[in-house]
Order: sequence, then structure tokens, then C-alpha cells
Amino acid sequence: MRIRLHPDFKLAIALIAALALLIGITVFLLKLLPLPAEKPAADIYITIINHEGEQEQVELEGFIIGVVAAEMPASFEPEALAAQAIAARTYVLAHCPPWGAAKHGDAAVCCDPAHCQAYADQAALKSRWGDNYDKYYARVKAAVLDTQGKVLCWQGQLIETPYCSACGGRTENAEYCWGRAYPYLVSVSCPYCRAAPRFSAFRSFPLSEAAMLLDVPEEQIAHMRAENYTAGYRVGQLRVGEHIYPGTEIRSLLGLNSAAFNWLIIGDEIYFSTLGYGHGVGLCQYGANGMAQAGFSYADILAHYYVGTKIKTITALD
Ligand SMILES: [Zn+2]
Ligand SMILES: [Zn+2]
Repeated sequence: MRIRLHPDFKLAIALIAALALLIGITVFLLKLLPLPAEKPAADIYITIINHEGEQEQVELEGFIIGVVAAEMPASFEPEALAAQAIAARTYVLAHCPPWGAAKHGDAAVCCDPAHCQAYADQAALKSRWGDNYDKYYARVKAAVLDTQGKVLCWQGQLIETPYCSACGGRTENAEYCWGRAYPYLVSVSCPYCRAAPRFSAFRSFPLSEAAMLLDVPEEQIAHMRAENYTAGYRVGQLRVGEHIYPGTEIRSLLGLNSAAFNWLIIGDEIYFSTLGYGHGVGLCQYGANGMAQAGFSYADILAHYYVGTKIKTITALD
């Protein structure tokens, strides 16, 4: 039996066939074309405040090389340098639209280590490293490019990534330093930073000088006492006469290496002993190097000091 098709139906079939062929050809051609890929992290440009105090557009990864070189000894282990690179990159992007609010008007960060992060350009590194320049630059560059685009997140958001030279055995809760708690900046034990040159230190003052620096009568210095200690085993509050000082304030008034201090008065002198160097919150840099020497990876190091955070790779399209 022959089926006779209405001419309109034949036309419809021909149209559908032509359309299918067209779609097939289009799909085939699209496969031949390169995909409109995500921009690699190397193409992220950020605005910073340079050493001259001017706004400057810089390529992210190149800038991070200069930050890591300025913030951590280049002789440190590759995994420690990689951990520092991720911490530094996270700090910059957390203050860079669209990932976070800029810290300096239109600019993400500045190059002042006391405010944002230190940064050294190639000329500064050449004069600092001398004959070791090529070797050290290659180490830092590898740490940055091996972790290109990697940042630390807490519940999907970029985190604050403070770091210090050596925590002295235990890191500190953020709230004791800055009055604000962060769930990932909590005290952890650190048995890895004992090799730090300033792991422990002594400093002495004549009692009269200590009294002047603390702005109290000299006789009260003999009766000062710690009211409490922090989660990071630092002096929380110190009573001197009627004054109550946060341990962090005593540290800055007396120029001590850390707020993990004790003291002894002998004659007219007061001797302070300190553990660690810096505020102690977040990554312990010498601890990171110690962990790397013990065989831990940068992911292990970051997970230890920034509790509960996750590494994510960011792209220009994020
Ligand atoms: Zn700044
Ligand atoms: Zn430490």
C-alpha cells in the first residue's frame, strides 16, 4: 500500500530536515571554535596605592609576587611560600570589588605593611637579595604561579587573612586583638615556630622608664598583675594601680615583641620575657615553614591556621 502525503506535509518534512541539518552544522562548527573560556586569573587587574601614594593598575599575580617577597623570607620552604601567596592574594581580593569592598576609595590596598601588606618591586628586591636575586625571585614566583587564582573562603566568602612572624606556640583569637571575632581566626596550638629567631626574647627597662611609658606612678609598677589571660595564652588585661590595660596596649606602649609576656622586678629594673613576635592572629609564618619542613602541604598549613576555611580558585568572571 502506498501512502500518499499531502504536498504541505512533504514541505514540512523537508523544512524540518533542513533545520536539523542546519543545527547539526552549527553544533559541529561551534565544536571547532575555541570556547569563550573564563579569563585566567593572570588577567585580573587591580588598583592599588603604590609607594608614592598614587593609584596604580597592576596585574594581580605579579603584584602578589612582590607582596610575598616583602612579607616572607624567600629562603622559606616552597609550601610555606605557597601558603603565604594564597593568604596575600586572599587579602588583596577581599578588598577588591567585586569580591569585597575596597579599602582605599577606588583602590583595593596600599603597600604600607602597618596598614595593608608590604610590597617590594623588582628593583627593591635586586638591592635586597643581591647575588641571590635570580634564585629567590624564582622561588617566590613559583609559589605564586603554582597557586594562581587560589584564595581562602569561609562559607563562600573571601576571608580576612592576617599573619604574623611567629606566634610563640599558640595563635590568638582575633577578638583579643581587634575587638571583633571571626569563626576561622581562633587560637590553635603551634609547635612549629620554635626555630624563629624571635621565638622568645627579653627586654628590660628601669622602673622609672616603665612607669613613664605606662603613665603611672613608679611604685605601682611593683604591684601590677595580670587580671586574665586570652585563649592564645597572652595577657588579656593587666592591672597597674587603678588602671586596667589590655595586654595588646602594654605590648605597644613598651614595644614588646608580643602580648605573651611575663615580668620580673630585680632592683630598679623590670625584665620582660616574651614568646613570639607579632599579634599572633591567623597564619604563623615561621610555623608555616616548620609545618612545610615536617612534610605538610600549603593546604594543610592554611587549614591549620585559618580554621574551617576552604581553598577556592577565583577567575576574572567570578
Ligand atoms: Zn592600606
Ligand atoms: Zn607559631
